[in-house]
Amino acid sequence: MDSEKLLAQLHGLKTVFDEKESELTALDREIGDGDHGVNMKRGFNAVNEKVSEGSTKEILKQTGMTLMSSIGGASGPLYGFSFVKMSDAANDEIDADNLAEMLDIFTGTVAEKGKVEGGEKTMYDVISKSAGVLRETGGLKMEDVQKLADDTEDMIATKGRAAYFKEKSKGTVDPGAQSAVYIIHALGEGVGN
Ligand code: ADP
Ligand code: MG
Ligand code: MG
Repeated sequence: MDSEKLLAQLHGLKTVFDEKESELTALDREIGDGDHGVNMKRGFNAVNEKVSEGSTKEILKQTGMTLMSSIGGASGPLYGFSFVKMSDAANDEIDADNLAEMLDIFTGTVAEKGKVEGGEKTMYDVISKSAGVLRETGGLKMEDVQKLADDTEDMIATKGRAAYFKEKSKGTVDPGAQSAVYIIHALGEGVGN
């Protein structure tokens, strides 16, 4: 994936989050404040408008800065800072090995910023297992990544707003885990599943 392909994949997330707004809103209504759909839509509409050129590193960094300034809520700084950190590792041509390395950084950044670990029912449950999927299967197929989000359904949330729901958070897929599926799948499409 060169810079042009990376940009196309990130711009494509505007359409994805326009389409998935109501799905993410519904999930966040169950175990949050109902704004995750709007947050992600706003974030990637801004990326589509403001990020238009540069090297892979520059594109990822601008994407992160844009997400930080346009997404309100917990997910903004987590996604935003992660894109900024991933930019450090990106090569001019991102192959599967390089993407796996970037996903390790994504994982480390969310762990550090969110003070989160696996099994707490957050985006981290998808992000932290995606590098493993990529290394094992050579790609990031939608069904494989979706399964990681589906696994959060039975978890009890202990981070973010969903943690207030305690046991009642069980039975709903975490909204951030679901948005992470779309982001990771888009990055994986670029390296040619
Ligand atoms: P807010 O909760 O502030 O309204 P969003 O609705 O945009 O923000 O994002 C909620 C998502 O953010 C959750 O579904 C969860 O995946 C993620 N999240 C919240 N807190 C944390 C945390 N400490 N670590 C990792 N992810 C988190
Ligand atoms: Mg919310
Ligand atoms: Mg909110």
